[in-house]
Amino acid sequence: MCEPGIIRKLDEEVVNRIAAGEIVQRPANALKELIENSLDAHSNNIIITVKAGGLKYLQIQDNGTGIRSDNLDIVCERFTTSKLKQYEDLQAISTYGFRGEALASISHIAHLTILTKTANEKCAYKASYENGKLKGPIKPCAGNNGTQITVEDLFYNVIARKRALRSPNEEYTHIMEVVGGYAIHNSHVGFTLKKFGENTDIKTPIKSSVIDNVRIIHGNTIARELLEIEYCDPKLHLKLNGYITNVNYSHKKGAMLLFINHRLVDSISIRKAVDSVYATYLPKNAHSFVYLSIELDPKNVDVNVHPTKHEVQFLYEEQIIEKIKNTIEKKLLSCNSSRVMYTQA
Ligand code: ADP
Ligand code: MG
Repeated sequence: MCEPGIIRKLDEEVVNRIAAGEIVQRPANALKELIENSLDAHSNNIIITVKAGGLKYLQIQDNGTGIRSDNLDIVCERFTTSKLKQYEDLQAISTYGFRGEALASISHIAHLTILTKTANEKCAYKASYENGKLKGPIKPCAGNNGTQITVEDLFYNVIARKRALRSPNEEYTHIMEVVGGYAIHNSHVGFTLKKFGENTDIKTPIKSSVIDNVRIIHGNTIARELLEIEYCDPKLHLKLNGYITNVNYSHKKGAMLLFINHRLVDSISIRKAVDSVYATYLPKNAHSFVYLSIELDPKNVDVNVHPTKHEVQFLYEEQIIEKIKNTIEKKLLSCNSSRVMYTQA
């Protein structure tokens, strides 16, 4: 007969590392959190530098508010945040961050360094972190207003994850998707993405437009076929904006960029709904490019269902999806008929 195992409490460090691995599953997840922090800090220029798909080195430089030097001692501890004070605030949260877990998580599975300067402080400060805590003293140094965060050797202590993520190129593709998505959705913010020591892969100017950024990131073949969509339903507290390719455009690999309340997310049901509308117009196995920004009453959205915040749940899903389908269908139809009329004229 087997003896029952003895139940022991796990070391805090082990618990934190496991939790961190759930929040950060690959370099692109870490980068998404860091970009969201930069946007929360009102940056309008964000520069990202990557080595080996972000596994070796991932740096993000912004020109936002910076972090106060007297906060640098606790900034990487779990559940330290400047954004959420009480649980009820979650209902009306307008920042990306709210749970103070991103920096903490990253510091448990990588070497993290922060260089930051607020407008009020005379110089910048630099600090390194390990397992949520400061590693060594906070050092005054030269630097611009804003924050630079450097993440090195991601997953150095999570061997299984490190083994699973063997292709830096694949990781870089995910990073391009995240940067491209946020650059299109935040076209007023300039984004730069480059591999260390190489030419830039993405560079969007400050105060650009959505269409210009689609052109920069996805090329003119898509940008010149875009239709703008807009819809508002006060009863459902739904606001829908976006750009979708017309029926002239089709590609064997489609793309959908979906933002719900400004978060880059995925929704299989919305994706299927969009595909079903296009299926009537496009050849078999051909797809569209669709960028949708959906704004819902924060009360109706639960952003806390998934550790990476990649999936969100929202109320009235069926009705909302119906409205999305109708809006896209109407737009495609109107443009299809105007094209016919144009050819006949
Ligand atoms: P959250 O975003 O949920 O608050 P994070 O761990 O991502 O948690 O960040 C912790 C805190 O660090 C933030 O609340 C913010 O005050 C500060 N912070 C992080 N990144 C930046 C940044 N790029 N610029 C200014 N402040 C930042
Ligand atoms: Mg955050």
